[in-house]
Amino acid sequence: MAKKGDKRKIIGLVCEACSQRHYYTTKNTMNMPDKAEMRKYCPVKRVNAKQVETRKSLGRNVVPVRK
Ligand SMILES: [Zn+2]
Repeated sequence: MAKKGDKRKIIGLVCEACSQRHYYTTKNTMNMPDKAEMRKYCPVKRVNAKQVETRKSLGRNVVPVRK
């Protein structure tokens, strides 16, 4: 889990070949404000396809406010 004050956020990587999420990773949002992209294997299409960071929040990055 992300520690308090941790700038590394969990991001999902959406495959451009089949538009599914195969990979999850973390990135430092302070150093990398741009969308993350990397080429990884797609197990559905069985090719090396570009994986792009999702815009959607995965929920785990959001810390619920205690009352
Ligand atoms: Zn894929």
